[in-house]
Amino acid sequence: MSGTVSPLRRAVVTGGAGFVGSHLCDRLRDGGAAVVCVDNFLTGSPENVAHLAGDPGFELVVADVNEPFDVEGPVDAVFHLASPASPHDYARHPLATLKAGAHGTLHALELAGRKDARFLLTSTSEVYGDPKVHPQVESYWGNVNPIGPRSQYDEAKRFAEALTATHREHLGFDTVIVRLFNTYGPRMRPLDGRAVPTFITQALAGRPITVAGDGSQTRSLCYVDDTVAGILAAARSGHPGPINIGNPAEMTILELAERVRDLCRSTAPTRFVPRPGDDPDLRRPDIGRAAEVLGWAPVVDLDKGLAATIDWFAAQVAAPHTPSAQ
Ligand code: NAD
Ligand code: UDP
Repeated sequence: MSGTVSPLRRAVVTGGAGFVGSHLCDRLRDGGAAVVCVDNFLTGSPENVAHLAGDPGFELVVADVNEPFDVEGPVDAVFHLASPASPHDYARHPLATLKAGAHGTLHALELAGRKDARFLLTSTSEVYGDPKVHPQVESYWGNVNPIGPRSQYDEAKRFAEALTATHREHLGFDTVIVRLFNTYGPRMRPLDGRAVPTFITQALAGRPITVAGDGSQTRSLCYVDDTVAGILAAARSGHPGPINIGNPAEMTILELAERVRDLCRSTAPTRFVPRPGDDPDLRRPDIGRAAEVLGWAPVVDLDKGLAATIDWFAAQVAAPHTPSAQ
């Protein structure tokens, strides 16, 4: 099963009604692949793929991947994204998050096995935990607290990587692991608790912008179109990964808050709030491997990406209802 790159005619996207997943469904359809989106709307929404309803090349299957599931017909690739992803969400759904990494990944792998399909796991920069190596390179094994407040997500993803690597090494599956770094863009939920949607929502409403700690911790933000291009490049390559997908432009969270405030033309004040437990101090991807093996690099600069995201959030606020708000 491994090594060959078959054409992408029909793909399954678990978590396809979520933020990243719905953009992936769009780009797959743009490229002519039929898409089966499997989602239980735990943290996603049918609104995110409503524009694809009626498209004969798009099918929405409402199912919990933590239980065994199947898809009829041939499948060339299984993209496994289903999992809560924001710290707020995985704290609300700790067991479902652990199960999505373990049971959900196993069931998605088994589907790929039955279909002889390539399997792609969206892992995360969180496998590096609070990193002691900076920037983070794929060979770094990480610094994760196995019983800490982020452990349900970090350890689930680490287990999902082990499960994926084991299916590749011992069972001959064709797999690739991508480690996504902080991604932002339209269709994030305003209340998902992540910095970008929280700051934009606060700045647009003129409410205080809640910066955790002194805001000196760093993140490196990648626009969703770039992230999805990286995911697709990895799927089309024969590479096993892991491959970091992210934008190495690093900034402090205080700088991000100021940037969002300026771009929103807001006068909202900053409110410093307590830092969550085990919040990583630094994060920046080394994307040398992605450049070398995929020829991929992000192209959307922060101001352009934030402006597009702010426009989308502003339109949601102006709409008679905000379907993505949860
Ligand atoms: P999201 O919460 O918007 O999307 C996740 C989707 O998975 C949702 O639609 C949700 O309903 C679905 N889902 C969750 N559990 C499920 C289950 N048991 N069965 C079926 N569907 C289920 O999150 P996102 O930001 O789009 O993240 C997508 C993937 O990318 C996740 O695997 C996440 O770990 C990974 N990732 C995202 C980022 C980021 O910055 N957005 C960074 C690193 C990794
Ligand atoms: N953060 C913040 N204010 C908020 C939400 C988040 O200062 O209202 C901080 C958070 O503590 C972290 C950074 O922003 O240091 C990125 O948080 P996010 O949840 O977006 O992503 P992650 O922590 O998963 O990288």
